[in-house]
Amino acid sequence: MSLIVQKYGGTSVGTSERIKNIAARILETQRHGNSVVAVVSAMSGVTDSLIKQARDITLKPTDREMDVLLATGEQTTTALTAMAINAMGGNAVSLTGGQAGILTNNIHTKAKIHDITPTAIHRHLQNGVIVIVAGFQGHSTTGHITTLGRGGSDLTAIALAATLKADHCEIYTDVDGIFTCDPRIVPTAKKIEAISYDELLEMASSGSKVMQSRSVEFAKKFQVPFEVRNSFNNNRGTIVKEETAKMENVAVRGVSLEKNQAKVTITRVPDRPGSASRLFGALADTNVVVDVIIQNTSESGATDISFTINKEDLEKVGPTLESVATAIGAGKITKHDGIAKLSVVGIGMRTHSGVAAKLFEALSQGGINIQMISTSEIKIAVIIDAAHAEEATRLVHEVFYPEREIS
Ligand code: ADP
Ligand code: ASP
Ligand code: MG
Repeated sequence: MSLIVQKYGGTSVGTSERIKNIAARILETQRHGNSVVAVVSAMSGVTDSLIKQARDITLKPTDREMDVLLATGEQTTTALTAMAINAMGGNAVSLTGGQAGILTNNIHTKAKIHDITPTAIHRHLQNGVIVIVAGFQGHSTTGHITTLGRGGSDLTAIALAATLKADHCEIYTDVDGIFTCDPRIVPTAKKIEAISYDELLEMASSGSKVMQSRSVEFAKKFQVPFEVRNSFNNNRGTIVKEETAKMENVAVRGVSLEKNQAKVTITRVPDRPGSASRLFGALADTNVVVDVIIQNTSESGATDISFTINKEDLEKVGPTLESVATAIGAGKITKHDGIAKLSVVGIGMRTHSGVAAKLFEALSQGGINIQMISTSEIKIAVIIDAAHAEEATRLVHEVFYPEREIS
């Protein structure tokens, strides 16, 4: 008998009909002779609407109360799913993250999993019961309800699959798998048959929000292969696993777009040891993640430094930047929030040359100006104007995945 961990995202459980649909799928999986643990998300829109409800009450709710509130979204779905399975003649039980034994640290709203003690899950599985676990949540070591960051149900599923040593882990969503680009931006994007953890990790952390990036990191660390599939059909999905030699044959596996970026430029930063350290040290203290950094060539002992951050963090870093710039004797600060990051990702870039040239050529053909460039071993990213970002994504995708080759 195999043990299968499945995860159903918000759209897949978005209505009562859809909950009945996934209940039937879960039951079918058990009837094929498997033990099943199913992790469910909140119904689509519920987490956002709970956040909005909290904001209607106060702009500064405590993180602890936010976690108590947000965890209810997933709990609702677990109970409804278990009820649906039981109504179809099956035997299912719902568990909160805490009841499932998911222990986390105490960092509310973005808790990390410490440990999982799946005693209750094992007991139910041994009795032939299907276990429905609330995604995105756990219990802190001090006994409080915690949540694992947006998209965290993916992490719940991968972590349970690792702990339970599941034979298969299936992530059900509203598209057929991982595509060469978000199909909502590029309708001609192709489904990828197999992708490495590293490639998906780069794609997920540069805007392809099909999987939570922390969950992919976890899958890589604990070597949990998984399949991303569509809950609305029976098509095979995308296998995510350790890289194979064959995967290097393709230079670019996917194209990602991250909107909501902002660029900050500080002019006339004194060109001497310590300036960058003080600047980015102060930013690190605000817990804001800095992405691409560019320092221009120095002219008469001063240089301009530009960097990108998330648009939402722009206000947060304002006062810190003003005081550091004054302290180090820099010039003015300019902020620009209409930018986006376009990335091409693929482990084949280690061995294929000319990817950057092809990318830049596509952008130039479209008259799109590149403001910044950053590279890693398996990624090239460019910062461009947000107004043309989707058009640029389609142009770049077309160069690496020409439409005429698809049919
Ligand atoms: P779920 O609610 O099932 O967790 P998400 O909305 O988090 O689903 O993720 C699925 C969505 O991710 C898709 O509807 C798609 O628009 C988006 N997406 C972004 N990039 C990609 C990609 N490269 N491949 C597939 N889907 C992508
Ligand atoms: N419901 C949570 C969210 O919307 C977690 C998830 O769906 O994975 O972020
Ligand atoms: Mg998701």
